[in-house]
Amino acid sequence: MPKRKYICEFCDTEKPQEPRLVTLTMTRNGRWFIFENVPVHVCPNCGHRYYDGPMLLKLERMITEQLSEARPIEAWAFSLPNPD
Ligand SMILES: [Zn+2]
Repeated sequence: MPKRKYICEFCDTEKPQEPRLVTLTMTRNGRWFIFENVPVHVCPNCGHRYYDGPMLLKLERMITEQLSEARPIEAWAFSLPNPD
């Protein structure tokens, strides 16, 4: 992934965003989808993740067109009571 020189929009660091591979989750129609090794740029100061638009569209397409290639996993979900 090419290095970008952009600085963060959310904090006043002068350090450029760093390329990194992360795990990303999405929910669609109540189902969870996990993507591993997703290339993103991360602010080294505040940790904000910058996603590439075309890459996110590719992930959306994987959900609709390549679901048979995903491996199912077992998961346990808890919902804590709403504090309001
Ligand atoms: Zn930042």
